[in-house]
Amino acid sequence: MRSLYIHFPFCEAKCHYCDFYSIGRDRTQNTDPEKFEKALIQEIHQIGRHLAPQLDTLFFGGGTPSMTSYSSICRALEPLWQFTSLSENVEWTIEANPSSITQDSFKCFRSYGVNRVSMGVQALKSEFLKILGRVHSPTDALIALDTVFQVGFDNVSVDLLCGIPGQSKEDLDEALTLLTRFPISHLSCYLLTLPPHHRMFHLLPNEETQLEHLLFVHHWLIEKGFEHYEISNFAQPEKQAKHNLGYWKGKSYLGLGPSAHSFDAKTMRRWKNVSSLHRYAKLLDQGQSSIEWTEDLKTEQIELERWMLSLRLHEGFPISWLTTPLKKSRAQAFKNQGLLEIHPSDTQKWRLTPQGFALSDQVIQGLA
Ligand code: SF4
Repeated sequence: MRSLYIHFPFCEAKCHYCDFYSIGRDRTQNTDPEKFEKALIQEIHQIGRHLAPQLDTLFFGGGTPSMTSYSSICRALEPLWQFTSLSENVEWTIEANPSSITQDSFKCFRSYGVNRVSMGVQALKSEFLKILGRVHSPTDALIALDTVFQVGFDNVSVDLLCGIPGQSKEDLDEALTLLTRFPISHLSCYLLTLPPHHRMFHLLPNEETQLEHLLFVHHWLIEKGFEHYEISNFAQPEKQAKHNLGYWKGKSYLGLGPSAHSFDAKTMRRWKNVSSLHRYAKLLDQGQSSIEWTEDLKTEQIELERWMLSLRLHEGFPISWLTTPLKKSRAQAFKNQGLLEIHPSDTQKWRLTPQGFALSDQVIQGLA
């Protein structure tokens, strides 16, 4: 495994729309950070041998990894270096939220070798941040961005949400304008989903508006020189997220921490750790595996994933994959609807158009 993901399970507060496993500060026990550190060390000792001698990518995700102290991270990672090291061009990302970024901590992370920051900005209007349950203000986000650039990071990604109730194209324009005043190299734009019981659920925009807003962001960022290289991701040249590209290209990765997923491309096996810090720590303390389930992908699943993954990316899929008359006619129909196009630099490939990116589920279901 040349890619490693570590899941940090703590957040300031639980955002209303979040499906990731994390514990808000109000529910975190005083002993939890220590418990996590100890369990992570045990897990590294238990399965670190699966790592390649050198890592191409290392990703601290969560949760909010930037809430964990630098000293705790260093202690937890110490045993890792018995099993692996970092390749010369390693991409080492830390996810961060504006409220947990300080100059001191980010100076430390940078000197440790972290070279990419992925910041959850999500919106730059107080009313939207409130709907989302975010704990930071628009000003916090802009100050945090300024801080990461000041301490010397030059590969910075931001997350932005589309489809927030009440959000207009003008709001998106304003957010994109403010964000691109910084030399950000990458932007992820996701469509907001809310649980049905959320008081704003009925105010989510309809599909037509969602599509309009996603296309607005697409055109705005293309104008600024970004490449729309994946359904929800835009990058400046050479700044695509290497770690995530590994997921989308079906490469192997090892995940550590509660709820972390792993995948072995040689055996086509996927597995997931338990989604509870308490159970994760207890299992590892007893010398047991923290894996909750394992799945060996069957031929049909491999076929489905191959379509899903290749359609996600602007590289597209070879036309040789259209093996049946039904697939050929469906692909042609999607092309006629403006959802698929011939790849501009390789006529033997087809790919999703910007509109197709926004409606990718339809195309995947039709072709896979
Ligand atoms: S900060 Fe991120 S991981 Fe934490 S609750 Fe909010 S969306 Fe989820």
